[in-house]
This record gives sequence, structure tokens and C-alpha cells, in this order.
Amino acid sequence: MDMRPSREDHAFRAMVRGFLAEALTPDLREAGRKRTSLWQDIDSAMAWQRILHARGWAAPDWPEAHGGTGWSLGQRYIFAQECARAEAPALIPMSLRMCGPMLIGYGTDAQKAHWLPRILSGADIWCQGYSEPGSGSDLASLQTRAVAAGDDYVVNGTKIWTSYAQHANMMFALVRTATEGKKQEGISFLLIDMTSPGITVKPIVNIAGVHELNQVFFDDVRVPRENRVGEENDGWSVAKYLLEFERFSMGSVDLRRTLTKIEALAETTRSDGRRLANDAGFRRQISELSIATTAIEVSEQRVLANLGAGKPPGAVSSLLNAQNAETMQQADMLGVEVAAYYAAALQPGALELGYNASPIGPELGLTLMPTYLSNRMKTIAGGSSEIQRNIVAKAILGVNQHLILTPYRRAKLTPPLLRRRLSR
Ligand SMILES: Cc1cc2nc3c(=O)[nH]c(=O)nc-3n(C[C@H](O)[C@H](O)[C@H](O)COP(=O)(O)OP(=O)(O)OC[C@H]3O[C@@H](n4cnc5c(N)ncnc54)[C@H](O)[C@@H]3O)c2cc1C
Repeated sequence: MDMRPSREDHAFRAMVRGFLAEALTPDLREAGRKRTSLWQDIDSAMAWQRILHARGWAAPDWPEAHGGTGWSLGQRYIFAQECARAEAPALIPMSLRMCGPMLIGYGTDAQKAHWLPRILSGADIWCQGYSEPGSGSDLASLQTRAVAAGDDYVVNGTKIWTSYAQHANMMFALVRTATEGKKQEGISFLLIDMTSPGITVKPIVNIAGVHELNQVFFDDVRVPRENRVGEENDGWSVAKYLLEFERFSMGSVDLRRTLTKIEALAETTRSDGRRLANDAGFRRQISELSIATTAIEVSEQRVLANLGAGKPPGAVSSLLNAQNAETMQQADMLGVEVAAYYAAALQPGALELGYNASPIGPELGLTLMPTYLSNRMKTIAGGSSEIQRNIVAKAILGVNQHLILTPYRRAKLTPPLLRRRLSR
């Protein structure tokens, strides 16, 4: 795989820059610049999606036949890099990056014809109903029941940690349709209209004080059988396929954006009268993070090559997910250290769009602490880092996962006396 940019790549980059310079209004740039979480505020995300959709660029990774751009792997990468460089708002991943590819892989022709154009245009906003209280890592133990009744299923139960359920009008969900046999073999995949009678959405506020998560309750909710994707009791295959897409993102683009911000802040920060950017310790840390980011970039391009050849991302998306999440958390930590005392100032108002007073401390440092807090979730959401490592061990390395001692298992398996000695 030759990763050097060609003359066409340079021309493509210039064309994308020209488009972004025109299409990104000051409001949208401010929204992108002030994003402190994986999720953009909904209004800016949808406004940006509509602009991209009008240009035919809302889903560059989709096959062209379903509304993708037909760009090469390099072009898709350049587009993501340029969007991050220009501080474009992030798009909502549950619709474009998860539900869309899942329907392309597993939907019937009628489902594709109905839902895909609505995902692209933003007519529907999707949320993901997988996790339940007690069923996260052990997802197949889920208990939300769907019982067939005429042309419908009747759904009862609850989903938790449902990101953006408060904005979504549709949910893709895993439900239990059989209780006998292997637990994975009694699960079906449903598309649920969030405006159906019997659905209640309760907010959960995160450590950064932001409402992104929810618990969703289903009380005799009727879902048409035609909204089932895949065969009854075969939803687990659909769920796993979708997870590969969820776990793969071009996360290195966000990482680079964070490193650039930290370096710029270090240029203006003084430590013992010297510029922090020249400090040997700082230079070592930022270089290590930059090298780790380059390694992630290369692996991402391998996954993109797979997608370009019409294959799903594969188990390597788990490797990337864990690497990306952990490197991002280290970068966030460095960012908070560089912002120093200014990171401690709680100023949520300054992150609101249109805020026109001066923030406490440099504007560049404003997002570092909220991002640090929000990104603690990166090693949990979409499957914790331990679970991603288990998948890598099993699917890529062929290792029996019971032999792997993750910190979690090590803590559980080590006798208490030895554990006390080791922790001294
Ligand atoms: C910010 C955020 C957004 C989310 N959004 C959504 C969403 O939109 N939709 C949705 O369905 N879910 C969502 N989730 C839920 C997420 O998928 C789960 O939190 C995740 O799968 C972990 O499950 P759990 O929270 O039940 O933790 P548990 O499964 O209880 O895990 C607890 C700890 O035990 C470890 N552990 C568990 N099993 C093993 C094992 N076999 N080997 C080694 N270690 C193990 C885990 O790594 C973890 O450290 C979100 C979570 C977060 C934090």
C-alpha cells in the first residue's frame, strides 16, 4: 500500500479546502472548535450534515451505489483530516457510521430504499439500544423482551447509556425473542420508532456535567415485524457486524487535532521563565504521543483499504479502538498539565456558542479539562479496552482468552495477601 500523496491527492486537498472555506460558517467553526466530547451539539451536527448532504459528501465511506462519494481511500483520509483542521463540527456516528453500514450489509432492499436516504439527509436521527443494566460487556445476556403479536412485536424492558436518545427519533435495538438455547441465539435486531407510545427517556448527566446519556424504558411498545433486520433470533450476527463499524473511526484525526492544540498552547505557556514548548520533558511526551498517533494512522489506512474493497473493518477495529482511546486519554492528561491552573477553572458558559466575554486563561485551553473528563468514557463506550483486547487475542492472535491476564482478571485471580504485597 503506497501511502505517499499523489499529485491528484494534492489537487483533491485543495478542492476540499476551498469547499470548507466557503461552507463552514463562523457559527459552525465555533461549534467545532468548542466540541469537548465525541458528540457534537445536535443542532450544529445536523446543520453541517445537511450542508454535506447537499454536496453529496455526508457518507464518504458508504458504497457509491447507496450515496457514498466514490472517493479513493487516500481521498477519504484527506477529507477527514481537512475537516478536523478546519474545525468542522463532528457528525452523529450512530446514524451515518453505524446504522447505515449495518443496513447496507444486512437490510432488505425495501429497508435500504426506505432508511438509507433518510439517514443521509438527516430526516432520521438514530440511537443505539444495545446495553442494559447488567448487560454491557456481557451483551448477550440482555433481557429486553420482544414477543410476536400479529404483525408486530411487543417490546418490554430497558436500555441504558443510550447516547443522544433525547434527540433520536429512531433506535436500532437488540431484543430477546427466545430464552431457550445459547443466549446469543435468542436475540433479534429491531428498528424502533422512538415516538411510539410506551417509550420513556430519562436523562443521565455525565462527569463533565453534560447530558448525552439516557436510560430508555419500553412499556408494551409495538414494533412492526417488517422493522426486524435479519432473521428472528439471528440478531447477534447483525449486532457484531455493526460493532465492527462502531469500533472503527478515524480517531487519529481527533488525536492530531488535540496534539496540535496542546503544542500551540505550550508555545504561549512559560515555565520557570522559559517557553514550555522548549522544555525537554514536554518535547519527549508530545513526541511519544505523535509517534503513537502515526502508528494508529497507518492501521486506520489498512482498515480503510478493507472498506474500499467492500469488506467490513474486521477485528483490527478493536485493536484500533483500544489504542486510540488510551492514546487520547494520555494526550488529554498532557493537555490538562499544560493548561495548569487554568484547567481548574469551571466555566461551562464560555463553551456555549455565541459566548462573547473573555474566558479565564487562554482560549486554547478552554476545552482541555472538559475534554479530559468526557474522554474518560473512551475506554468504556463501544466495549471497554479489556473487551477489545480479548477480541484481538481471540480473533487476531488466536490465543485462548482465558489465559490472558488483563489487569481486571489479574486483580481477581491474585490471592488477597499477594495483592496487598504487590500494591505496597
Ligand atoms: C459515554 C458512553 C456512551 C455509551 N453509549 C452507548 C449507547 O449509545 N448505546 C449502548 O447500547 N451502550 C452505550 N454505552 C454502554 C457501553 O457499551 C458499556 O458501558 C460497555 O460495553 C461496558 O459495559 P458496562 O458499563 O456494563 O461495564 P461492565 O461490563 O460491568 O464492565 C465493568 C468492568 O469489568 C471489565 N470486564 C467485564 N468483563 C470482562 C472480561 N470478560 N474480561 C476482562 N474485563 C472485563 C470491563 O472492562 C470494565 O472495566 C455507552 C457507554 C459510555 C461510557
